[in-house]
Amino acid sequence: MTIKKIHLKDKKEKTPLRGHPWIFSGAIQDRDAGIDDGDIVSVCDSRGNRLGCGYFNSKTRIAVRMLCFGSQEFTPDYLRMLIRTAVGKRTGSPLLRNTDSYRIIFSEGDHIPGLIVDSYAGHLVMQCLTLGIDRLRETIVNILNDEIKPASIYERSDHEGRSLEGLDPVLAQRYGTTPHDLVMHEDDMKYYVNLLQGQKTGFYLDQRDNRALVRKAAEGRDVLNLFCYSGGFSVAAALGGARRILSVDSSGPALDLAKKNMDLNRVNTPTDFLQADIFQFLRDETITGDFIILDPPALAKTRASVHNACRGYKDLHLQVASKCPAGTVILTCSCSRFIDMRLFQMVIFGAFTDAGRKASIIGKYAQPCDHPTNIFCPETEYLKALLLHVE
Ligand code: SAH
Repeated sequence: MTIKKIHLKDKKEKTPLRGHPWIFSGAIQDRDAGIDDGDIVSVCDSRGNRLGCGYFNSKTRIAVRMLCFGSQEFTPDYLRMLIRTAVGKRTGSPLLRNTDSYRIIFSEGDHIPGLIVDSYAGHLVMQCLTLGIDRLRETIVNILNDEIKPASIYERSDHEGRSLEGLDPVLAQRYGTTPHDLVMHEDDMKYYVNLLQGQKTGFYLDQRDNRALVRKAAEGRDVLNLFCYSGGFSVAAALGGARRILSVDSSGPALDLAKKNMDLNRVNTPTDFLQADIFQFLRDETITGDFIILDPPALAKTRASVHNACRGYKDLHLQVASKCPAGTVILTCSCSRFIDMRLFQMVIFGAFTDAGRKASIIGKYAQPCDHPTNIFCPETEYLKALLLHVE
């Protein structure tokens, strides 16, 4: 079967020539008749030279996500090579020796746009984010089985972004049986993870390095863990010798899991849990903690929402900055891809200026090694964290 072609407008070849995998719809000059959404297409410059191939969707602003560049053809063997490379990056890494759970495939970060696979103690959770990847599902499951020999594979394709692709959510057991209450290990910490219903694929694997940081920084501190979810940071703080911990989240099931996780780790630090809207909580309550963890959900989910998201981040920091005692340490995180470190820092700067408080940055952090940033696709860099010291 010959692959149909799309031609880019003059000069628009620069992006794929640099290895960036996204072709926006506005960059396309014309396309062969009969290309369906989800098809693999050849991408050519305006003179007909082949730039590579990718999968097409007319419904999304990113019309093509590139799977290979130059004269390389996209075949099941090529996909197997990409998956094998991604797996090899993790399984051989001394940086991941302290855990049995990590991300094995990170979409564009591993040159497979639209595919996420996380491994929890040998059980895989996969997410197909795009129509192009949906079409490759069966091949992907077969390759994962061959290359990883997992205990099970569960598909959690319930990411909200799928609706933009014209796709419904899919939840399905693809291989074996995935347990409801799996326990994962990270250093000597243990966490219950709900792979079938928990947030994301069950756990915030991307905060692993920051959990280690919290564990180091928490000694003797009164910790306020805001947006705690299943208590990842609370357990780390407790094992790091925190004096007291208050964990806050708006989700009841998240707090139940956080409690279970504290028990699982036999934490005897005085610990409280509070179900509350944190924006309101910060307005109403005085802050007693002197180590505050701020890890809200992505407040900017689209480029258009950046302005409002910045107001949200500023509001949170303004409340904290106005109320926290001198000497407080704050770990503040943003997982909004559309807000880069410079903008994040500017928003925090604005909040502290308005609050009339002095603070300094004593650490800057990013996502861990199993969430690699594709150097040709800076958009894959999304997690930012700052450790602040308030005077
Ligand atoms: N820090 C967590 C991950 C946080 S994810 C970890 O390391 O595991 C964001 C969390 O914020 C979710 O658990 C969600 O339930 C909660 N959340 C979202 N909006 C909220 C709000 N307005 N007030 C309180 N919690 C909120």
